Amino acid sequence: SDTATPRAEAVIDLGSIRHNVALLAGRAAGSGAATMAVVKADGYGHGAVPVARAALDAGATWLGACSAAEAIALREAGIDARILSWLDTADTDLAPAIAAGVDVSVSSAAELARVAAAAGRVGGVAEVHLKIDTGLSRNGCPPALWPDLVAAAAAEPRVRIAAVWSHLACADEPGHPSIDAQAARFAEAYATATAAGLSPLRHLANSAATLTRPDLHLDLVRVGIAMYGLNPVPQKEDLRPVMTFRSAVALCKRIAAGESVSYGHTWTADVATTLALVPVGYADGVPRTLSGRMDVWLGGRRRPVAGRVCMDQLVVDCGGDEPEPGSEVVLFGTGAAGEPTAREWADTIGTIDYEIVTGMFRPRVRRRYV
Ligand code: PLP
Repeated sequence: SDTATPRAEAVIDLGSIRHNVALLAGRAAGSGAATMAVVKADGYGHGAVPVARAALDAGATWLGACSAAEAIALREAGIDARILSWLDTADTDLAPAIAAGVDVSVSSAAELARVAAAAGRVGGVAEVHLKIDTGLSRNGCPPALWPDLVAAAAAEPRVRIAAVWSHLACADEPGHPSIDAQAARFAEAYATATAAGLSPLRHLANSAATLTRPDLHLDLVRVGIAMYGLNPVPQKEDLRPVMTFRSAVALCKRIAAGESVSYGHTWTADVATTLALVPVGYADGVPRTLSGRMDVWLGGRRRPVAGRVCMDQLVVDCGGDEPEPGSEVVLFGTGAAGEPTAREWADTIGTIDYEIVTGMFRPRVRRRYV
């Protein structure tokens, strides 16, 4: 039932979202820029709608979504803030998003034609953000094709050029030469638009650039990871991690010295010990590659996971202690008490904390908002 202790629960602290957004939006406002809260991938695994509401409360005025479907889900939840949706497949019908007042990104003449046709079908004018590829080489218009794209968009009555934008490749490495190179290409691309008599918004900065490059805040910053309390840059910042991933002890048992644990018997007790079984595993977002390399927070201290992480369970070595079944187990949290963090998991397995929290976007993990 809903009241039973969940096997796997992501506790989302919306007060921390508000704290982080207030900090980031305050920095942006200091440069005269507005703030877009990026809530794609279901709010980086935190839940797009509650995160969006908290972010808008705390000073964000825009939302960023990856697709028209994500943007429409925000509208359907009653959110009327400005939303930018940036990447869909070529056969996605953009008409419903345009009808819902969602801004869409355009990187090519073909995309422009699709957006204009969709706007025509709903009898409206699409707000478009023309994307210039300044060096990430993902989406975005190559500089050689940019003047033609700007001219075509300016001449198209079914679109309005709301913004010119781009995305940085290495903003999380402050001082990386690509940052200034991308900023210079961006300024050049923007000049093409102003020379055509346009004055759209400009946006380039992600979280890392928002924290380290006020000169790149321009008119709007797009913050994702830092809003979730995970700091993408080396300097210290007062960001509060938003997600705590928890479970509870299902049962405990004593084993004798020499007994081995979990598949493959990769771990053997040197002395008699107590094991606590925790009903979460790789189906709940605990990477199996953390086997033998992770601790949990249980009974006010860190304890190592013994042996392999399984699909639905893992085993904790509790030594001489015997936690009660039902005792809380924190898999990762803010780190404030000494518990592991999403960043620690990421560092251990060679990924980024973005992937860890976004990996909690799965049906078996219950979300609870506090
Ligand atoms: N802008 C775009 C286009 C993105 O794809 C993302 C996320 O990857 C962001 C902004 C936010 O980036 P970050 O989470 O590093 O702040």
